[in-house]
Amino acid sequence: MLYNKEIETLALPKLRALQNERLTTLVHRLYEKVPFYKRQFDEAGITPMDIKRVEDLHKIPFTKKTDLRDNYPFDLFVVPQNEVLRIHASSGTTGKPTVVGYSRKDLDIFDEVVARSLVAAGARPGMKLHNAYGYGLFTGGLGMHGGATKLGMAVIPVSGGMTDRQLMILQDFKPEVMCCTPSYAQTLAEECKKRGIDTAELAVQYAILGAEPWTDTIRAQVEAGLNVNATNIYGLSEIIGPGVSQEDYEEKGSGSYIWEDHFYPEIVDRDTGEPLPYGEEGVLVFTTISKEAMPLLRYWTNDICSIYYDSAAKRTHIKMSAIKGRADDMLIVRGVNLFPSQVEVLIDEFEHFVPNYQLEVSREGTMDEVKVNIELSESLSNAIGVDGLSANEQVKQLIHDFRQKIKNNIGLSMDVNVQPFGKIPRSAGGKLSRVKDLRKLDSK
Ligand code: ADP
Repeated sequence: MLYNKEIETLALPKLRALQNERLTTLVHRLYEKVPFYKRQFDEAGITPMDIKRVEDLHKIPFTKKTDLRDNYPFDLFVVPQNEVLRIHASSGTTGKPTVVGYSRKDLDIFDEVVARSLVAAGARPGMKLHNAYGYGLFTGGLGMHGGATKLGMAVIPVSGGMTDRQLMILQDFKPEVMCCTPSYAQTLAEECKKRGIDTAELAVQYAILGAEPWTDTIRAQVEAGLNVNATNIYGLSEIIGPGVSQEDYEEKGSGSYIWEDHFYPEIVDRDTGEPLPYGEEGVLVFTTISKEAMPLLRYWTNDICSIYYDSAAKRTHIKMSAIKGRADDMLIVRGVNLFPSQVEVLIDEFEHFVPNYQLEVSREGTMDEVKVNIELSESLSNAIGVDGLSANEQVKQLIHDFRQKIKNNIGLSMDVNVQPFGKIPRSAGGKLSRVKDLRKLDSK
């Protein structure tokens, strides 16, 4: 089943024609109504007449998170206040949050793309959705909620955290579909095991995971631990929220469909901003061609991935690879670029490690050093006992092999610190940071 077969399988020339039509209407609107965009165009020496098709987008300057902050809270809104029906804001760890507004049409688009995503993930009308994304200013909870309602699912709005209650609801309400961050799915899987909950007794079949980077290593742990089929959902509030892209449950590992009739993607070089060809890795940039209240031109997501067409796929829309990380989260260690996800994928090959890990970054003199803190499997951890860990020959061998693996694959020597099972921080409901940056603590 596809939610909107006509659009999801639209032939590429038709999809391009639709995108071009939406884009040209949009640039005229933004130029006339938003002073920020008029300035952007004027300074670049272009007019809306220069933008006739998506291939012309490269002429337009990027819109960045700082531009949203500079126009805080509502200066990028295009419609009058009384046509704005919802306002969300992203957390913003420093300074003011970034604010986004939705008109009725935007909320309809949001529901539509989430409904498509749910179906791609395996959900069907009549099923129940256990929604463990946070409700509130964060778009996750309400975004999934609206799409599931549109699809005809019963939504259980659990929100994030309170693991006891989550487990009770999974057991008693028997939802077939659940959604949360991948790190929280790890927590739930572990808690099921700890409490002796037989996952075969649960009804949940599909888990829709996103809001933070994750790899097949975590997928394997969550699928086994919760007895589910787990797919990736991607999104950000500036573009709409969750449902910008979604992986199909029968095409796992081949990337997530970007609903490109609404969100036109580009990949650009992170240093020069030059557009890159399909398949090359760079910064993901979106133009929200159909949005009404706060459309954005060439929004610099800061997320690193590649985009490509998959001719063997069920749908015609372009796919994106898993996000390697945010450009901001990239560590530069002795001249080598490093994302935590690059270490995560390597854990998969070690049956005695579990993907509970954290990279600890410190500075020795002028050099950045990275230590990988990683947990031992529960069984080996129990067999050895906490006190014997560092002296244990098997652990020493594991450390040696893992260091070697990292060196061969990433090109860096890293210290590996093996911890007993349960010692590394877990997600208590939301996003989890895999990096502990001691350099920041030092400079405080
Ligand atoms: P913030 O985290 O800035 O408060 P959002 O909740 O809108 O705001 O987060 C959006 C960001 O979350 C994306 O830009 C991306 O970095 C990350 N993200 C969302 N979904 C995924 C995913 N499936 N894989 C990797 N990263 C994701």
